[in-house]
Amino acid sequence: MQKIAVVTDFDGTLMEQDVGDVLMEGLGVLNEPQVVEASRQFREKKVGSLAWIEAAYPNLADRQEQVNKLIESVHLRDGARDFIDFCQQKDVPVTVLSDGMLYYIEQILGRDQVIVDRVIGNPITYLEDGQFQFGVQNTNPACKWCGCCKASVVKQLKEEGWLVIYIGDGSSDYYGSGFADWIFARASLARYLKEEGTAYYPFETFHDILNILRPAWDSFLSGTATHRLQGRFPAACKFPN
Ligand SMILES: [Mg+2]
Ligand SMILES: [Zn+2]
Repeated sequence: MQKIAVVTDFDGTLMEQDVGDVLMEGLGVLNEPQVVEASRQFREKKVGSLAWIEAAYPNLADRQEQVNKLIESVHLRDGARDFIDFCQQKDVPVTVLSDGMLYYIEQILGRDQVIVDRVIGNPITYLEDGQFQFGVQNTNPACKWCGCCKASVVKQLKEEGWLVIYIGDGSSDYYGSGFADWIFARASLARYLKEEGTAYYPFETFHDILNILRPAWDSFLSGTATHRLQGRFPAACKFPN
């Protein structure tokens, strides 16, 4: 019997909303000239999320109260709690893997009492004295594209012998899911995978995911569940030899 790990994106996946977008829009950050430029280059795939994060997130310095206010309005995706419970029952470790800001992820998970095994995101936060701390998670020295190099986290799990179920919705998940065994995808991640011809399970709520996993759990455990992937190479990320 192999061991299964779940890796889920946060914004627009575990959460109904993209919290980063809610903050950037709500605080007018997207209108800052350097962010407009970074967004254009990001859309044109000339730069990765690292450059965008470096342009956008420092604009949240000194705005902790406004950030706190805005995150009051966001909530978990339907079924997320049942899904986390299911993983706990099955002894499946859950990693929340985000290219967003650790501060809001930790605030929201704490507030909603969602307990997961690991939270990996960019160490952008407000310190106890209110001071703003900026940083990116990327521990993959070879990748200059990502803020949080999701692909390197999943690659590591594979090297440790896990079967990986990846759940996501966006461009960072396109790379992040590159080494996963199975992908649950919605929104732009689903569109990318479809275009590429990569198999995935579509979802909108975590009930959709449970409806796939529950009846077929034994086949996931044995690695034989349908839509299993052999590993696509996430083109923008590089890895040390
Ligand atoms: Mg997302
Ligand atoms: Zn990367």
